[in-house]
Amino acid sequence: MESPVRILLATGNPHKVEEVREILRGDGVELLSLLDLGGDFPEPEETGATFAENARIKARAYAAMAGMPALADDSGLSVDALGGGPGVQSARYAGVGTTRAERDAANNAKLLAALAGVPDGRRTARFVCAMCLSAPDGSIMAQTEGSFEGTIGFAPRGSNGFGYDPLLVLPGEDRTSAELPPSEKNARSHRGAATRAIAPRLAALTKCGDGRAMR
Ligand code: IMP
Repeated sequence: MESPVRILLATGNPHKVEEVREILRGDGVELLSLLDLGGDFPEPEETGATFAENARIKARAYAAMAGMPALADDSGLSVDALGGGPGVQSARYAGVGTTRAERDAANNAKLLAALAGVPDGRRTARFVCAMCLSAPDGSIMAQTEGSFEGTIGFAPRGSNGFGYDPLLVLPGEDRTSAELPPSEKNARSHRGAATRAIAPRLAALTKCGDGRAMR
């Protein structure tokens, strides 16, 4: 019987941990969070110009610090009317708030203000998620990307999820991402797509048995 491979899920965001754990449930992977490891892991600076670059920075830094393979995601919202913004700045768009909930509320308010006067048909947007799996020596074992299309609504709605979920209205329906039950968000979301695409590489590590890259 193969023992589950231990991989660090390199994020301090409990919502992401919950989503990715749920998506990978039953895949023979034991996902440890930064909290599970308990140590002091300084956050690397996200200096990349793209989601993929930032995911790589995070995966490499945490894999080296923890001495085990690390899976990192970098994600955000890309709004067509804002030239793809807030993009890699999504988490710190408004730049205020001490708690995650305060930052999310300020970001959503700033986004609504930025789109004031933009009509329904020009509010297209998508969440994007880049996932990266790095070995402790910094070699990149896999990199994937997923997206989740919608339009930006005129007021926040729904209480599930996090971040901009209350503003992303799903195509052809009236619900926002924050009104989806968690299982439906995982089935349709950017993070779900990127995670499912990287899952076979995680399974390959299980077969390798020692958590090192199988190239
Ligand atoms: P990261 O932690 O640097 O990847 O920042 C991601 C930011 O993008 C979050 O703080 C949210 O503002 C936004 N974001 C990413 N994924 C989602 C999602 O699934 N729902 C809502 N907002 C998201």
